[in-house]
Amino acid sequence: MLSIKNLHVNVDGKPILKGIDLEIRSGEVHAIMGPNGSGKSTLANVLAGRENYEVTDGEVLYQGKNLLELAPEERAREGVFLAFQYPVEIPGVSNIYLLKAALNAVRKHRGLDELDAMDFLAFIKEKMKLVEMKEDFIYRSVNEGFSGGEKKRNEILQMAVLEPKLALLDETDSGLDIDALKIVANGVNALRGPERAIVMVTHYQRLLNYVVPDKVHVLARGRIAKSGGKDLALELERRGYGWIESEARA
Ligand code: ADP
Ligand code: MG
Ligand code: MG
Repeated sequence: MLSIKNLHVNVDGKPILKGIDLEIRSGEVHAIMGPNGSGKSTLANVLAGRENYEVTDGEVLYQGKNLLELAPEERAREGVFLAFQYPVEIPGVSNIYLLKAALNAVRKHRGLDELDAMDFLAFIKEKMKLVEMKEDFIYRSVNEGFSGGEKKRNEILQMAVLEPKLALLDETDSGLDIDALKIVANGVNALRGPERAIVMVTHYQRLLNYVVPDKVHVLARGRIAKSGGKDLALELERRGYGWIESEARA
């Protein structure tokens, strides 16, 4: 699904990622952990194609294609989805309008018919059950006035609607109370499947109690300093990140 080799990325002329190597297969769930400022969002953003990230070395293959030469919207059509750490508000654009337009763009690309308003409504109501969202949320402007937790649930709703092949979730657990965390985790778990890979960026082990990852990677100093199974997350919870950073320095 995704093969990252020796990826180097600058932000504002400053090296942030300094040689990332990562292989993710279809069906797998990977967690990317690491201290604040270690480059987790940079990695997720550069994969999604956000602006202002300069790749200075390395390559990224997505389903055998050079991901880095695709425009962000092409990546999205090809099934790459990023749930933002800080979801954007879009005043004046209703949630349902955005979701329907996004879904129909993807369906068109996949050679499927566009859904009409009635079919889309039925479809989205099913998806909203997954994140326990009330119907009025789809008629409101995208994320405008949503609480932190509602924004995160809306990101999961977008993911459920678009059914991406590669889902990147950037701290979708941050700021959630325990009930919202479980709802988000249920949504993510419902989307696990052999045809999909999920990358969860998180500071905390907490989410990983509910969405059990196949692999855990720790970013430190712009590289993957350590990889392991789900137990690595528990070890980090116990010991913090300091020892990994010391090892990375050495
Ligand atoms: P994380 O998500 O792991 O907390 P980020 O990827 O957001 O880390 O940030 C990694 C580093 O890159 C930080 O030192 C941050 O200050 C820097 N950085 C990120 N975005 C920018 C930017 N737009 N301009 C300057 N520095 C940035
Ligand atoms: Mg951060
Ligand atoms: Mg971040």
